Amino acid sequence: QGHVVFENVSFAYDERQPALRNISFTIPQGATVALVGPSGGGKSTILRLLFRFYDTQSGRILIDGQDISSVKQVSLRKAIGVVPQDTVLFNDTILYNIHYGRIDAPEDDVMKAAAAAQIHDRILTFPDGYDTKVGERGLRLSGGEKQRVAIARTILKNPPIILLDEATSALDTTTERHIQRALAEMTHGRTTLVIAHRLSTIVNADLILVIKDGQVVESGTHDELINHA
Ligand code: ADP
Ligand code: ADP
Repeated sequence: QGHVVFENVSFAYDERQPALRNISFTIPQGATVALVGPSGGGKSTILRLLFRFYDTQSGRILIDGQDISSVKQVSLRKAIGVVPQDTVLFNDTILYNIHYGRIDAPEDDVMKAAAAAQIHDRILTFPDGYDTKVGERGLRLSGGEKQRVAIARTILKNPPIILLDEATSALDTTTERHIQRALAEMTHGRTTLVIAHRLSTIVNADLILVIKDGQVVESGTHDELINHA
């Protein structure tokens, strides 16, 4: 589950300036794909359309052969986990935040669940100690900590498709590398779209799409693009 196709998709927030122009690409099931390119090129718009935050204005987006415009919003959102660039947390505990919307795992069971899932060790162990922080309220966390909570929530949700919009941008490079490795291992086999802001994010990708002026201007593996450049 998680084969994604964009087929001649166009979208404009403002009709004088299209954000995506007749864009087509395929993301094989289970692949990790990095979207790179200049700011304003259309990367975030691609993620927003896939999540149906907005609907396409022409063309189609298919997941496993099915046009997402005919998929129920709730099913789509179950199938897709999003880590946005600016995570907004509830002003409640970390445990509440990572379990929000999950009826199968009440907050008291979270310690067990989180520990079992390694999330606690690999994503949520903050420098000053996980145990003191889990009860901390969302608003009191740093930007990097919020990002880690959002990542933990998404891993726990375990959807077939994961969208990461510069999801590790607020982390220092050492922590970022650590979290990215954990993410790669824990989400292995899941279709992953990453908007990349640093080269380190791109190295792990199976495929890189260079997005510029609403189109794919180049695509290939890291080595292919480097050798080509
Ligand atoms: P990227 O993620 O590559 O920086 P975006 O997808 O955010 O690019 O933006 C593509 C184009 O759409 C840009 O011209 C941007 O200014 C415009 N845009 C993005 N979001 C909005 C929005 N919410 N309202 C209006 N224009 C937007
Ligand atoms: P990201 O930063 O993840 O690419 P943003 O939503 O922050 O996505 O916005 C991307 C670009 O779109 C930015 O250049 C921003 O200025 C522009 N943009 C975002 N929202 C709007 C909006 N409501 N109206 C006009 N431009 C917007």
